[in-house]
Amino acid sequence: MDQRAVIQAKHVSKYLGATHAVKQISFEVSQGELFGIIGKSGAGKTTLLELLSGQRAPDEGSVRVLGFDIATEAEKLKEHINFFMQTTTLVDKKTVREALEMFQDYYRRQVDINVILKQFGLMPYAGQIVNRLSSGLRQRTMLAASIISDPSIIFLDEPTTGLDSQSKREYWSILAGLRLQGKTIVIISHDMTEIQYCCDRVGVMRGGQLVACDSPMQLIEELPRGGLTMEAVYMEYAVGYEGGVEV
Ligand code: ADP
Repeated sequence: MDQRAVIQAKHVSKYLGATHAVKQISFEVSQGELFGIIGKSGAGKTTLLELLSGQRAPDEGSVRVLGFDIATEAEKLKEHINFFMQTTTLVDKKTVREALEMFQDYYRRQVDINVILKQFGLMPYAGQIVNRLSSGLRQRTMLAASIISDPSIIFLDEPTTGLDSQSKREYWSILAGLRLQGKTIVIISHDMTEIQYCCDRVGVMRGGQLVACDSPMQLIEELPRGGLTMEAVYMEYAVGYEGGVEV
């Protein structure tokens, strides 16, 4: 085993009802990596993230995260990963500071809220109600709240969907800062530009399979039909175009 591999998926499969949502996926993520997952809607990205974060158990294969087998030891993993949410309903009516305090109480962590507010550029908004913030600031608040327990691995499911370009860039620069602190980050995203410039590696999913997995530069350089961007990588592997026709 690679000592630095904090996530190890081996031949992992998951059925959701009759749908084979994740098919025989094997890959590893190293400590400190910013790992992106891309793919069309329905490709299996969320299911894979749920498997990696212990929210679902695999039907076949295994997932080990920080050495814990998520089929039998998901509980032990909880304090090492973030609690990611796709909506802000839980904290909508609270101020930004109160939202952070709520998560602090939940995790029983004595962190300095002011340090977190500063780190995330949220100090000027500390007294504002979460659901009155711009979507960019709301997502930043959710990220700050979700990592108040100081997790070593952070899972994020499309946190920047719907944000304007500047908010996306700001969000990704916060992720880059967390990565510099040694955090491992796994993020599902459709921001091809940010994926290209910020991710160490990217996994491309299609029909429940991991059809490509490498650094953005390598994926781009090895494109069989050329192209210089992650958009082209997406079209090649996630969509699968042949002669301009989706296959
Ligand atoms: P993505 O995140 O890439 O959009 P998902 O992991 O959400 O994909 O879904 C993968 C596949 O599983 C899709 O075909 C989806 O329709 C199906 N699916 C998702 N949730 C369920 C469910 N609860 N029951 C049955 N099928 C589901």
